[in-house]
Amino acid sequence: MAVQTVGSSTEISLGPAVALSCRECGERFPLGPVFACEACFGPLEIAYDLPGGDPEALRARIEAGPNSIWRYAPLLPVPADVADKPNLNPGFTRLVKADNLARELGVTGQLHVKDDSGNPTHSFKDRVVAIAVEAARAFGFTTLSCSSTGNLAGAVGAAAARAGLRSCVFIPHDLEQGKVVMAAVYGGDLVGIEGTYDDVNRFCSELIGDPLGEGWGFVNVNLRPYYAEGSKTLAYEICEQLGWRLPDQIVVPIASGSQLTKIDKGLRELVALGLVEDRPYKIFGAQAEGCSPVARAFKEGHDVVRPVKPDTIAKSLAIGNPADGPYVLDIARRTGGAVEDVNDEQVVDAIKLLARTEGIFAETAGGVTVGVTRKLIETGALDPSLTTVVLNTGDGLKTLDAVAPTTGPSAIIRPNLDSFREAGLA
Ligand SMILES: *Cc1c(COP(=O)(O)O)cnc(C)c1O
Ligand SMILES: [Zn+2]
Repeated sequence: MAVQTVGSSTEISLGPAVALSCRECGERFPLGPVFACEACFGPLEIAYDLPGGDPEALRARIEAGPNSIWRYAPLLPVPADVADKPNLNPGFTRLVKADNLARELGVTGQLHVKDDSGNPTHSFKDRVVAIAVEAARAFGFTTLSCSSTGNLAGAVGAAAARAGLRSCVFIPHDLEQGKVVMAAVYGGDLVGIEGTYDDVNRFCSELIGDPLGEGWGFVNVNLRPYYAEGSKTLAYEICEQLGWRLPDQIVVPIASGSQLTKIDKGLRELVALGLVEDRPYKIFGAQAEGCSPVARAFKEGHDVVRPVKPDTIAKSLAIGNPADGPYVLDIARRTGGAVEDVNDEQVVDAIKLLARTEGIFAETAGGVTVGVTRKLIETGALDPSLTTVVLNTGDGLKTLDAVAPTTGPSAIIRPNLDSFREAGLA
């Protein structure tokens, strides 16, 4: 195997991670910056030797840890001293009990919003990048890179700055201004590509195979198996914040489908480790109608996901050819969940609904999950009497354009009482 490492891969020390294993054929490979199986080209994921023994002791160890994803370091492919290195310490974001939203949606059980806009660069991507940075360090990469729908570029730029690595990230050239600025401000290189995200991703795959890309760690390509594990921390946090309990239902946005797939992996690990009681849970996937290849495959009963050309305001989810699509279908079907989509108008309505009821300003991806939750309740797919967690994965300030045309001052007045009285707002 062609592994670009400083030492031999047997010296690689990433905590409980012991190997890469193929999700299709199960073949194992040493830890390295590779993402596809040599035998069958299936995607690789991390295999662990997880801490067994007394669940009470492990729970206590986690609870005594830092208020970041590093409290779960014993379950992640990172060195034990990870929290001591310069990094952004993402995670442990708030789980908001959303009673007002519940009332509005007719939910009689508990409804929670997991608000990942509270991460250092205001999206869930800080979780996955933090793990990828550790892998990049372990493999001796000097440049951190990615193909991004926007949020990832900012997360990589910031994490690289803090870790003292060079960064060069790639985005579709026509992203929201908030995301472009956020990706550039940390001082790394930002390259806009004339094309869709899928074009950007294809370009990055070419670059990895070329001498031009030597020494480059692409967090979501050649470091993807490590990067993806960061999403497990969402599952861990949700369960811990519910009092070490599985939610009954969870609504997750889908771009590549990696996050949804790894949330399921994280929940199953907690069960296997005895940290939560084993009971059924359902995972629901959420997409925007303008890019809903997984929702379509789910509804049509297909196992394969037919790629589409994205056209939606939910640009962070605009991946027309989602790598983990088939795994998402498996998980939604196995757990008794579903994959549903909403149109752009419903996304905007849902952003405003969440803001108005809970004081949370979500980016378009959060509008997708809230909008889909509402639709799933209407169709009866989601049981309103159970405990449900809805993910908000990003900050509304990054997608102002989505709501700006229909949001603004209630009135513009002259600075006197008569003028205010005329406005009829008293
Ligand atoms: C990247 C991203 C996701 C999920 O991405 P996956 O590729 O499915 O893991 C969700 N929400 C936001 C805001 C994102 O930026
Ligand atoms: Zn394989």
